[in-house]
Amino acid sequence: MVLYLVSMELITSKPQETKKAARKLALNLKGRKVIALIGDLGSGKTTFVQGLAKGLGIKQRVLSPTFILIKSYPLEKGRVFYHIDLYRFGKAKELEGLGLEEILENPNSVVAIEWAEKLEKLLPTNTVKINLEHLGKERRKIIISSSKS
Ligand code: ADP
Ligand code: MG
Repeated sequence: MVLYLVSMELITSKPQETKKAARKLALNLKGRKVIALIGDLGSGKTTFVQGLAKGLGIKQRVLSPTFILIKSYPLEKGRVFYHIDLYRFGKAKELEGLGLEEILENPNSVVAIEWAEKLEKLLPTNTVKINLEHLGKERRKIIISSSKS
C-alpha cells in the first residue's frame, strides 16, 4: 500500500497556468523521479508534462507521445527524461516486455507517465501523483500528492 502524505490542490484557468505549476514542481522534485499523471482525455496531462519538461531544462517541443508510447529527452549529467503515454494500452499484462521496469529502476531517469493508473503496481513509493479534472472549458483542478522523500 502506498500512503500519499503530502497533498496540494490548485485550480488553473488556462493551459499556461498548468504549465507554470508543472515547471515549479520540476524544480522541487528533490530526488523524486516518477510523475504519475491521472485524468481524462483533455484534462491536461500532456500540457502538464510540457511544463515539467521546461522546468527540467528541455528546450525541444514536447508533443503527445500517444502513438509512440515512449519518448525520451536528454537531460544534464547523463540523465534522461522519459515521457510515456499508456492510453493505448490495457492493464499490466500488455505492458510486460516494454522495458518500463528498467526505465523506472534506472537512477538516471526522470519519468512522466500519462494514464499511470494502468501501471500502478510498478510505481515507486515516492512517485508524485498528479490528478487532473475538468472543471470547465479552461478550468482544471490539479491535485498533487506524494509521499515524503
Ligand atoms: P491530456 O494529455 O490529458 O489528454 P492535453 O494536455 O493533451 O490533455 O490537452 C488539454 C487541452 O485542454 C489542451 O488543448 C489545452 O490547451 C486545453 N486546456 C484548456 N485549459 C487548460 C488548463 N487550465 N490546463 C491544461 N490544459 C488546458
Ligand atoms: Mg496526453
